[in-house]
Amino acid sequence: MQLVREARDAGLDVVALTDHDTTAGWEDAAAALPPGLSLVRGTELSCSRGGISLHLLAYLFDPAEPEFAAVRRGLRDSRVSRAERMIEMLAADGHPVSWQQVRALAEGTVGRPHIAQALMAHGLVGSVDEAFAPEWIGTRGRYWAAKSELDVVEGVRLVVGAGGVAVFAHPAASRRGRTVGDDVIALMADAGLAGLEVDHVDHDDDERAHLRGVAADLGLLVTGSSDFHGDNKTVRLGDHVTSEAAYDDIVARATGLEVLAS
Ligand SMILES: [Zn+2]
Repeated sequence: MQLVREARDAGLDVVALTDHDTTAGWEDAAAALPPGLSLVRGTELSCSRGGISLHLLAYLFDPAEPEFAAVRRGLRDSRVSRAERMIEMLAADGHPVSWQQVRALAEGTVGRPHIAQALMAHGLVGSVDEAFAPEWIGTRGRYWAAKSELDVVEGVRLVVGAGGVAVFAHPAASRRGRTVGDDVIALMADAGLAGLEVDHVDHDDDERAHLRGVAADLGLLVTGSSDFHGDNKTVRLGDHVTSEAAYDDIVARATGLEVLAS
């Protein structure tokens, strides 16, 4: 898998693979792991709270734990039916986007980025960002369909129940949409949240400082990541990293899986 080679080339010694609502890439990543690079297996769960969409990083959980496995399956199914609804709406307006094409563009879970790529392939938009505008498939946009999402506090409980470590992804990324207040972070902490992803491209300096304070108050660890999505977005792999101390803490807390090394 190209990602793990790029991670090594970027100078990383540990990389986490956290595709949305799936563990499908773990095996390929493990098989392609270059010497000197360790792999943290995880996923990024689509969650919500009070109508606000949130992402929860789940690291080193046992993929076979039945309760969490069933919830992940449900989330994947709902992503497929949601993408189908968006494609139907586009097709009904005469746009030449098909399920077969989007499916072929997605190597794993079908998501909005793949519909965006299809729109680009047909020259309907000039970029993925443009596809995410309200005229197309942006949140609550013309061709947007809602997906079923897991309550974020319940998500934390499920991850911890499967021996994993839960980290709130980009909690203050206001440019992605509405964000939740510190009260919700406190509820997540009560449910077993381990940390906050503070160092992220979508957080400015003030947001990072605020989140560091919240983490200190609640006894949460602080992580950083590039949130690298391949060539779809402008971030570079390894742009933000997690400290060795926080990483050691995550590994020590996990009981679901070991870190893989080649
Ligand atoms: Zn995310």
